[in-house]
Amino acid sequence: LRLGQSDREIELRSEIREWLSNVLPEIWGSDSQPDQPSEAEEYAMRRRFDAVAFRDGWAGISWPEEYGGRGGSLLDQIIFSEECERAGAPEVFNRVGVGIIAHAIMMFGSEKQKQRHLPAILSGTEIWCQGFSEPDAGSDLASISTRAISDGDEWTIEGQKVWTTLAGFADYCLVLARTEPDQPRHRGISAFLVPMDQGGVDIRPIRQINGDHEFAEVFFNRASVPAGGLLGAPGQGWEVAMGALEFERSTNFMRRQVRLALDIEALVKTAQASSEELSASLKTRLADLLVRSECLRFTVWRSVAEIGKSGRPGILANASKVYWSETHQAAAEFALELDQALERPGHSELVTSRSKTVIDYLSSRAATIYAGTSEIQRNIIAERGLGLPR
Ligand SMILES: Cc1cc2nc3c(=O)[nH]c(=O)nc-3n(C[C@H](O)[C@H](O)[C@H](O)COP(=O)(O)OP(=O)(O)OC[C@H]3O[C@@H](n4cnc5c(N)ncnc54)[C@H](O)[C@@H]3O)c2cc1C
Repeated sequence: LRLGQSDREIELRSEIREWLSNVLPEIWGSDSQPDQPSEAEEYAMRRRFDAVAFRDGWAGISWPEEYGGRGGSLLDQIIFSEECERAGAPEVFNRVGVGIIAHAIMMFGSEKQKQRHLPAILSGTEIWCQGFSEPDAGSDLASISTRAISDGDEWTIEGQKVWTTLAGFADYCLVLARTEPDQPRHRGISAFLVPMDQGGVDIRPIRQINGDHEFAEVFFNRASVPAGGLLGAPGQGWEVAMGALEFERSTNFMRRQVRLALDIEALVKTAQASSEELSASLKTRLADLLVRSECLRFTVWRSVAEIGKSGRPGILANASKVYWSETHQAAAEFALELDQALERPGHSELVTSRSKTVIDYLSSRAATIYAGTSEIQRNIIAERGLGLPR
């Protein structure tokens, strides 16, 4: 299952490497990857990456060409991700739009909505966020209370969302709102493409444990959705949300899985260089991380194969998500302890230090929560994957 050595793959890798070596200095703003960029510098680099990748035809490797993509396969996408991670390319800024919302639009959107939004999402000219969670509806998403009311052609939205990643930067939000309060709760929900730049939308950023301000609370006070802003049919919102979440939990993690494997590889190198100073238990944990990283790779490949067969990753999305987030957390914790064992600077200044190890550790705490908690993934795997009773 290792990525093959076909001529085509070798050629593709060398083409990607050449492109990256030409554009990365322009994207980084220097000859090498900046060491510890501030949050604002990092976002600016990521936005440059989105724009340059689109300009040069490297965005949306596996997207259809008619929507601005390259028309390649998911395997090409994995190869691209590997090369980007190895070269230190920034993460896609519009990751919610590209990795999640675009799939919902591809699955449920009209041709007009696809033409209007997909190329803009891919180029990063239209930043998107996902308005699903509410203060009283996270794991139990079907209990959302945000309402949408139609006055003929247009809809008006009233309610509150929370933990909305990139809301402070977004041009549009995919909002789940209750449209048919008399229907059973999963059926009375619809999905809307809501413009964020309007008086009825109030965004209040929330500071995260890692110091970033990536997510926010969003208040909709009679926010309007122009005609044509309903995604799918009225009452089809639950289906739209589940479709989006399947991609959020699978292909969206492909590049992160590659990064995690490289991080673990780097930990192995550090540990090898100082093997005598490390306890047997640290070495055993590192071996466990390596094994987990390989298992994760196979799980991601299996979900890619499943998408190839059925168009959807299905239950493997939940398996990849839970496995990725827990391995990521274990690796970040291990890295911190390794620094401590080797007495590297930074470990004692947890919150004030912006060292990569500390930021990774703090960021990793959220991984078992976002895109659905580990407990919820396990419930879904047990009930829908293994057919166990509720
Ligand atoms: C960094 C970050 C980014 C996010 N970005 C977004 C975003 O862009 N858009 C968006 O809509 N949301 C976003 N979220 C929200 C995320 O989807 C929710 O936090 C998550 O679904 C959990 O919901 P909750 O926080 O309400 O916790 P709760 O649902 O209240 O859960 C609390 C605890 O109870 C457990 N629990 C709940 N129900 C069960 C059950 N039936 N069985 C077993 N255990 C259970 C949970 O696993 C958890 O441990 C983000 C969250 C984070 C941390």
